[in-house]
Amino acid sequence: MKVQLDRDRCQGHGRCYVLASSVFESDDDGYGLVVSDSVPVELHEPARKGAGNCPEDAITIIED
Ligand code: SF4
Repeated sequence: MKVQLDRDRCQGHGRCYVLASSVFESDDDGYGLVVSDSVPVELHEPARKGAGNCPEDAITIIED
């Protein structure tokens, strides 16, 4: 699995990195970042949870 975060869409709500802190993190201004483009299998569920809860639909999950 890979995760992409569209920084143009992100409004910094922070839900991704609050719900899935192993997959997403915050930059200095509260906008989301992806910890690692490639997500190990044990983090697939939190990655999907973070993506599904982004109010701006800024996170794309790419299944292998
Ligand atoms: S939940 Fe969406 S809008 Fe909020 S920080 Fe994460 S990517 Fe950005």
